[in-house]
Amino acid sequence: MTEEKTEAAQVEFRAEIQQLLNILVHSLYTEREIFLRELISNASDALNRIQFELLTNRDVLDEQAELGIWLEADEANRTLTIRDTGIGMTRDELVENLGTIARSGAKNFLQAMEEAGKKGQGITADIIGQFGVGFYSVFMVAEEVTVTSRSYRREAEAAVWSSQGQGTYTIAAADKAERGTTIQIKLKEDAKEFAAPYKLRQVVKTHSDFVAFPIYLKERKPPAEGETEGKIEFTQINQQKALWRQSPREVDEEKYESFYHQFTFDFGKPLLRVHTSADAPAQFYALLFIPSKKDYRLFGAKEDHGLKLYSRKILIRENFKELLPNYLRFVEGVVDSEDLPLNVSREMVQATPVLDKIKNVLVRRISGDLADLAKDKPDTYRTFWQEFGGFIKEGIAIDADSRGKFTDLLRFQSSKGANAEEWVSLAQYVERMKKDQSEIYYILGDDYNVISRSPHLEYFKKHDIEVLYLTDPMDSFMLVGLHEYNGKPLKNVDDAGLNLPEDSKPEETKEAETAIPADKFEALVTRFKETLKDRVEDVRESKILTDSPCRLVNPPNAMNTNMQRVQRLLGKDYQVPKKILEINRTSPLIQNLSARLAANPDDALVNPLIEQLFESALVIEGIHPNPADMIPRIQQLMEAAAKL
Ligand code: ADP
Ligand code: MG
Repeated sequence: MTEEKTEAAQVEFRAEIQQLLNILVHSLYTEREIFLRELISNASDALNRIQFELLTNRDVLDEQAELGIWLEADEANRTLTIRDTGIGMTRDELVENLGTIARSGAKNFLQAMEEAGKKGQGITADIIGQFGVGFYSVFMVAEEVTVTSRSYRREAEAAVWSSQGQGTYTIAAADKAERGTTIQIKLKEDAKEFAAPYKLRQVVKTHSDFVAFPIYLKERKPPAEGETEGKIEFTQINQQKALWRQSPREVDEEKYESFYHQFTFDFGKPLLRVHTSADAPAQFYALLFIPSKKDYRLFGAKEDHGLKLYSRKILIRENFKELLPNYLRFVEGVVDSEDLPLNVSREMVQATPVLDKIKNVLVRRISGDLADLAKDKPDTYRTFWQEFGGFIKEGIAIDADSRGKFTDLLRFQSSKGANAEEWVSLAQYVERMKKDQSEIYYILGDDYNVISRSPHLEYFKKHDIEVLYLTDPMDSFMLVGLHEYNGKPLKNVDDAGLNLPEDSKPEETKEAETAIPADKFEALVTRFKETLKDRVEDVRESKILTDSPCRLVNPPNAMNTNMQRVQRLLGKDYQVPKKILEINRTSPLIQNLSARLAANPDDALVNPLIEQLFESALVIEGIHPNPADMIPRIQQLMEAAAKL
């Protein structure tokens, strides 16, 4: 049994790891320095985990060892050593973590590389950490890597893993008395710069300055008085600051930025930063960011969202989702609270009311700061809205508690905007409502251009009443939770029972009667009903249309248009909803159709014209199941029109 352990075993890498190694070794020459960031970040993870163990578990090897990371380089021999006093790995863990990788990270990374290549984007190794395979980046600079590790578990023995990144690795027992991991790298000839202390200092400053444990570098000090040569000593080279525990006044823009980059690997500028602390109702510090883009994590590699949760400066949970409502999952950052138990877990959330208190404060801060952003930096807010507006709508749909905080952040296109780029808020809408207007009107559709031609709008345009254009698929969901704003109900323009302003109520006019006399109009309506049969709920005169020949409206008891759209989006068996067809008695087209019918009830064009009017209305509503089906009929009508 011991034999098995002492003997060095040679093992092959899994296929996708081999592929990954080939790419790292042969095609990535830029940003190679990030290998150091990846190794330091692994060391820091290992230190976080031992710190947690030390607090919750008494039986840990080397309880007294300082928690830190030590770098030691030897230029003459082209070697670099990275040592940590973290949690360490057993022999099995070395094999599992560095050799077999059950995770899909390697595959995803390869796929991302391929996709970027297709798009002609130069991809760099920089993003590798996002895929959970950061360790392998060391082979960009290494001829050979030796990882010697000893687990914190007293009974475990030390082991050594070694590889040249060429298809195999070896694993054997090792002599290592202290807890932790030592990674020895024999640098490639063309990577020897990473054995120079000044270079290491610079790379750590750029990529790992905020690592929460001290990073020491062995270097020769400048000679002190009376010395010819300086002493060789370890000096700390990172700031190791918990930035979130500082007062915002002490932190300059540059520090925030560099923290953000190191924290998220997003190289854009965050759209919003929230740095706050509180003593009551719960004590905590928070430093949160809204990233530059929704998908700044390339190719959606890491779906893990959530905040980093610290208790007394110790990282206790990553991707902690219980501190923000789910719809704010795009927010990144750190929360650090003295009031939290160290063993907080998903199951414990209910029993930890302090979490809810922190959550409430955070939601309030985020919504408040977003409102300020909209006021102070409209351009940045516009970017925010384009990237993240959908999440806010989701929140409004499902979270009644925070609804009030977010409705003022909503933006919509509108009939009063000059173009699709002009957005209004509900507050702006209400401010410019007509004197007698008691409702907020909106229209749903797929796209600005289609909506702005909708016959539903004619009446509103004529009476100068603003209508919001809801063109985002999320809008239908949002309306599930948003029924009013400041006491004013939101109403769809196709709603049958609108409470229109007094001075713009549609009136009975003589005009309609003159256009088509009652008996003729009745005959026409009857023909419409006979032709369309049960495809419509009813056919009747419109009091609202001015130019268009007809429109479709919802019968009073029908599921509203909004819910119909939600159903369609959810992929529930979608059937074209039955609606009421309203016809415009004053439209020349309808007048001519009526005349044609009166002259000859068997006129061959009457029925196709009715069919086409109906189907065109379906298209405008965005509910035609297959518009191409209309083409033969359109051709038939064109032939008739083209006849001399
Ligand atoms: P990730 O860090 O995203 O999990 P890596 O490829 O960087 O992916 O590392 C793989 C795994 O190897 C880590 O999850 C960890 O379990 C283990 N590991 C790497 N370096 C260390 C270390 N210094 N100490 C302890 N475990 C480590
Ligand atoms: Mg890692």
